[in-house]
Amino acid sequence: MYFVSRQHYYYQDEYFVEIAYPSIDYSSPDMLICKYSGEGESYTDPREAVQVAIKIRDQWKEDLKGEDKDREISISYGSFKGIEGEESTDKELIAWADKAYESLEKCALCGDILEKNGIYINEDSEFTEGKFCSENHAEQAYLNSSDICLICEKDFTRKDMNYDEDLRGNICDSCLKEKEEKGES
Ligand SMILES: [Zn+2]
Ligand SMILES: [Zn+2]
Repeated sequence: MYFVSRQHYYYQDEYFVEIAYPSIDYSSPDMLICKYSGEGESYTDPREAVQVAIKIRDQWKEDLKGEDKDREISISYGSFKGIEGEESTDKELIAWADKAYESLEKCALCGDILEKNGIYINEDSEFTEGKFCSENHAEQAYLNSSDICLICEKDFTRKDMNYDEDLRGNICDSCLKEKEEKGES
């Protein structure tokens, strides 16, 4: 999670909009009172955190008055534990956020960023390494993937197959039909 706050860095005596990760615990101690939309909040998508930070900086800059009027406002990102952030250009911020976004784990079905407490797997994950955002997506992906019919040994999509109690596995429709016909005669 990426936490966005406004800071008045003590040692530098500079105004910053700060993006701290992996959590609010890594933000600097000199946070200003929340005034603009989106600040004091955590974001799972670093690209969203950057857009919010840029908006806050621009609004804040417009609101500066009196002796603060000519102050620069910068944006910093990082894990801050007792060290103050450094200025980054918008271009650097966007490049960093794109890269950070790429490296985040995503749901193998819908592509959403996986949140800390919500990573689900299914019985295929051992082989596919697929991780999912919800139990529902883990199950959907499981049913959408293929399995081998225990009778004819051909590939089918799981959701089109039938669980066979005797064989303890999936069989296809036509094998099921054949099996039932045999059973009846
Ligand atoms: Zn998903
Ligand atoms: Zn079959």
